[in-house]
Amino acid sequence: MTEDNKIVKHCKLCLMTNQKPFSINETKNQSTNQKKTTLSFDENGNCIACQNKIFKKGINWKERDKELRDVCDKYRSNDKNYDCIVSGSGGKDSMFQAHILKYKYKMNPLTITYSPILKTNIGVENLTNWINVGGFDNYTFSANGKVLSILTRESFKNLLHPSQPFKIGIKTFAAKMAKKFDINLVFYGEEYSDYGSAKMLPDAHYPVEWLINDEDVNNIYIGGSQVKEIKKKYNFLTDQDFIPYKPLISKDLVNFDLNVLFLGYFLKWDPQEVYYYASNNSGFVPDDYKSDGSYGRYSSIDDKMEYLHFYCHYIKFGIGRCRLDASQEIRNGHITREEGVNLCKKYEGEFPKRYANDCFKFMGYTHDEAIKIIDKFRPEHLWMKKNNKWIRKQEIF
Ligand SMILES: [Zn+2]
Repeated sequence: MTEDNKIVKHCKLCLMTNQKPFSINETKNQSTNQKKTTLSFDENGNCIACQNKIFKKGINWKERDKELRDVCDKYRSNDKNYDCIVSGSGGKDSMFQAHILKYKYKMNPLTITYSPILKTNIGVENLTNWINVGGFDNYTFSANGKVLSILTRESFKNLLHPSQPFKIGIKTFAAKMAKKFDINLVFYGEEYSDYGSAKMLPDAHYPVEWLINDEDVNNIYIGGSQVKEIKKKYNFLTDQDFIPYKPLISKDLVNFDLNVLFLGYFLKWDPQEVYYYASNNSGFVPDDYKSDGSYGRYSSIDDKMEYLHFYCHYIKFGIGRCRLDASQEIRNGHITREEGVNLCKKYEGEFPKRYANDCFKFMGYTHDEAIKIIDKFRPEHLWMKKNNKWIRKQEIF
């Protein structure tokens, strides 16, 4: 974190702050001390996500629809193979993507699933509905849970980022499956810039180089440590145990024309509308309870570890699940900024009590050990202790 980033700056339109880090190639992520690019603002004080939203109001969606139809025509398979890949676990976004591609754009998507770290019941129900109600072929891959628990444990301790090894695995999964099945087109959902996780890209293409790391697998980083260090510490682990986490290497893409496109570039994407679409067409069901740390019931509900992940994000950057949900809803015009602030006052930073102990147990920590690790990651410019209680600093409310 750079010096000037110790002054928290809030977006004028939504509730995001300059503490939000950009997405990075995690296999190069050595530690939390590494300098990171964070969310930036324009001269009006609007964050990238809000600038992006304003820009998108001027888009001619009919033209984009035509562009999408052209892409589909180019990749539509004539040999009875699948035409494209949609990766997901039966969340509302993947349900929407696969369904609209199949039934509106007449594509034949293969759906693929990289299994969550700790599945929730509602997530399992939705994955089943995706296949049975939506009507898709699906390949589901589950990474070795014993290895994953070690990597998650290390990543929590080193980076306070328990989901990072999972995210490393899922990142290259679609590209690997595309190659395996000789399918040249992969669709992702919303563009990263919609959430301020990256600068706006010039077109629909996900830069494939983000998936590549030509380093020897022993030198790549998982959970803040090099694979060779992890193997030294847990000497029963072998090279094969790291297969799911291996990034692509440049050679993998020689003679294979891989196109990864954001469907969100072509289609107007409102998470609330996407939720209704997924419910009506693929049997998506929201959770019975609101998510700890927010007020929503339908985003990121398939993995118990996600609940802890959002809490860790809140500790490290002061940006919790509620703020992410509310900011998105402010940008889409569903709530006002003031309503968003009130929601954050009420819910942001709630401890993820529903699943925390399951997550700690999976990583092999007691509750107290885990809390000690969490408290070590509270930056001084965001937190102070008063009367034995943690208090936020530099907050708008
Ligand atoms: Zn904003």
